[in-house]
Amino acid sequence: MAETTSLPGEELTAERAKAGQPPIVAATGRDRGQGPYRRLVLRGATVIDGTGAPPIGPVDVVVEDGRIVQMKKVGSSLSTIKEKLRPAAGDHEIDCHGKYLTPGFVDCHAHSGVAYHAANGWVPPVDYVYKLWLAHGVTTVRDMGSFNGLGWMQGQKTLAAEHKIAAPRLLAYCYFPAVNDMLKTIHTPEEARAWIRGIAERGADGVKFFGAPPNLMQAALDECGKVGLRSGCHHAQMAVTRMNALTTAKWGLTSAEHYYGLPEALYEDRIVQKFPSDYDYSDEYFRFSVSGQMFAQAAKPGSAKWEETLDAFLDLGFTFVPTFTIYDANRDLMRARQADWHKEYTWKSMWEYFKPQRGGHGSYWYRWSVQNEIEWKEQYRLWMQFINDYKNRGGRVCTGSDSGFIFQIYGFGYIRELELLQEAGFNPLEVLRAATIQGAALCGLDEEIGSLEVGKRADILVHDVNPLTDFKLLYGTGALRLNEERNTGEYVRGLRYTIADGVVYDTAELLADVRALVATSWEGEEASQAVVAPSLAQSSDPVAQPKAAKKAKAAAPKAAKETAAKNATTKKAAPAAKPPRIRREAAE
Ligand SMILES: [Zn+2]
Repeated sequence: MAETTSLPGEELTAERAKAGQPPIVAATGRDRGQGPYRRLVLRGATVIDGTGAPPIGPVDVVVEDGRIVQMKKVGSSLSTIKEKLRPAAGDHEIDCHGKYLTPGFVDCHAHSGVAYHAANGWVPPVDYVYKLWLAHGVTTVRDMGSFNGLGWMQGQKTLAAEHKIAAPRLLAYCYFPAVNDMLKTIHTPEEARAWIRGIAERGADGVKFFGAPPNLMQAALDECGKVGLRSGCHHAQMAVTRMNALTTAKWGLTSAEHYYGLPEALYEDRIVQKFPSDYDYSDEYFRFSVSGQMFAQAAKPGSAKWEETLDAFLDLGFTFVPTFTIYDANRDLMRARQADWHKEYTWKSMWEYFKPQRGGHGSYWYRWSVQNEIEWKEQYRLWMQFINDYKNRGGRVCTGSDSGFIFQIYGFGYIRELELLQEAGFNPLEVLRAATIQGAALCGLDEEIGSLEVGKRADILVHDVNPLTDFKLLYGTGALRLNEERNTGEYVRGLRYTIADGVVYDTAELLADVRALVATSWEGEEASQAVVAPSLAQSSDPVAQPKAAKKAKAAAPKAAKETAAKNATTKKAAPAAKPPRIRREAAE
């Protein structure tokens, strides 16, 4: 254990584990999804390919061994399909007449579970996270920080690639440990370079920065370029005065996460944001309320500075991953807190974690006010305009969710980001492009995924309703509609199947699994752990298993029992590790 935790990419994980926040329970088996098939045929679909091209149909799509091998237009409308044009039968077929296909979504800023939630009880197993992602069409995830450790990520990444767990394609970006107020084990440029080489050798896909002393950051980014690692930075306030997003972009950074560092690149009558004199970064109310004043202090839209900053980023081929969704509560706290999905889909310890509390990250509602919400609305107006202007100039903007904080739930938060890109001025096809091919390009995977094209991996979403009409239809809860016949409201859900690397997931099944899991989280830790364990068994202690299974039988609530029975692939039962209830400073 000691050797593993001292390897590059494990620093933050090791530190957290010492403080009672161990990595969350990994997935070990696949209990959902059919395939990949030798030959899968999707018949008669309208295709929206993700490149920005408009819908076209009817098309028969043929997938062989997880790769798209044919996309055949079989008529000019559903009623004029020419049967003789149709490709040969598959060993599995999905009737897509009247349905819509899009590429699977890329979540460019996500976390495969957050150990911080241990501060408020039992942390959801990662199966909860994966199933919510898949149920919302997310087929590729750029894990920004690999907070469960690079070894953990690599294990899950491999199991996902081998279709042995029900999970999206995973990419591991490691936390760069040179941050004074978080964790700092790197002190010299030489150490920074050696660390980058170290994580590259261990198979990392990239680096997640929070800022660092400029000489370390510069050395690390230079080394990233040499070894072929990509990078993203959350330009934290404690580091941003020494390097804003444009500085790091010039040093070779791939993408800026969130908004931090961007207004600073737009300052023209100051270098440092005007902070209140009693500001304290450790106080999360200050941190998040004052950061809502950043854009108001920057150059105005359309000004010379605004325009030249857009051009400078564009010249560098830079990417923005705004994650509008994760700060959405700042504009309207009650809306985020009362979202339709919390009741059935929000895990208990997460819900407790989101409530106002000191020590929790993003739980800063100590005295959130009308004034705070007004400032954040203005912040969004300016921030969204910059991001939309950047897209209009040809700059790359990608879709990330950062769920797990601030009342945002995995999967649901991603769909909210689609809504917010549309609010920023992207038309629906532009939103879809950001969510698919642009995300794939950011990850360096656009030869393999991100659009529906012959030769690409089969990451395909099957929609019952055209998603361009309303992204709200993609929510696991659906969107509220009037049922004309019954003259009453009903929720309509558009996403039927998520095909991830050729494996076909029924989203209704995934959502049912999640609801059952979540129910157990509210029934009490003991019952939940014993019951959830069958599909997530991780313990290597075989003696403990029969005991746990017995306990599960005795303690399990009805819904959970049904889940356990459905989870046919893994028979083992083992207690999940019970994290101690330790409140600890968390600091992303
Ligand atoms: Zn994040």
